[in-house]
Amino acid sequence: MVGAGIVTTYTMNNPLRMFGGIDISIRRAEHRAYLAEEEEKHSERARNNGLKSCQRCGFCCLKQPCVPSPTEFNTVADYLDITPRELARKYAVVNEEKNGFYLLWARETQTDIVGRALPYYRTYDRGYCIFFDKEYHACKIHQARPKTAKTTKCWSDKTELSGACWTTDRIKALLPDFNPNAGDLYVVNGNGTVSLLRIF
Ligand code: SF4
Ligand code: SF4
Repeated sequence: MVGAGIVTTYTMNNPLRMFGGIDISIRRAEHRAYLAEEEEKHSERARNNGLKSCQRCGFCCLKQPCVPSPTEFNTVADYLDITPRELARKYAVVNEEKNGFYLLWARETQTDIVGRALPYYRTYDRGYCIFFDKEYHACKIHQARPKTAKTTKCWSDKTELSGACWTTDRIKALLPDFNPNAGDLYVVNGNGTVSLLRIF
């Protein structure tokens, strides 16, 4: 654990560029470089081969896990035969953007800390969506997958917004401890270990 007990003016809606010695913009640049490397490895990607049909390379499941709407979230919980709360605690993280917070699937590197509020730059972590089956290059929740999975087409520049419409109240209904003004900042280090900076 790094820097436990640091008192700061940080809030989830007002992330600092520098925190605990970590320059967030450098982390974002690192992530962009990581994605460029990964894109090379996903050589069958439709976009890179002039194709207009999904080749199931998995790059989009690594680049950005799906963002389910609250209704889609419940559909996935039913599909997995667990409660929405269990789904949130086991497989989702809370991310933020300018207009507020939303839930999205965790990445494989976040399996030990899912169900927690993570600042947006923290959710740029490495690895595939937690529901991506690396052996078969398939979505483990394919039949119940959110709309974002169905509309993602790497060969098209048209981006469809997920329209997820999460509110803080909806998130708190699933994660009662969620506090939009405070949280724990987790950082994935270069060697893959996770450090925690506790924020009050
Ligand atoms: S849509 Fe996604 S999985 Fe399909 S080929 Fe493109 S990057 Fe790969
Ligand atoms: S839910 Fe399925 S399609 Fe969407 S990112 Fe995860 S593995 Fe990929």
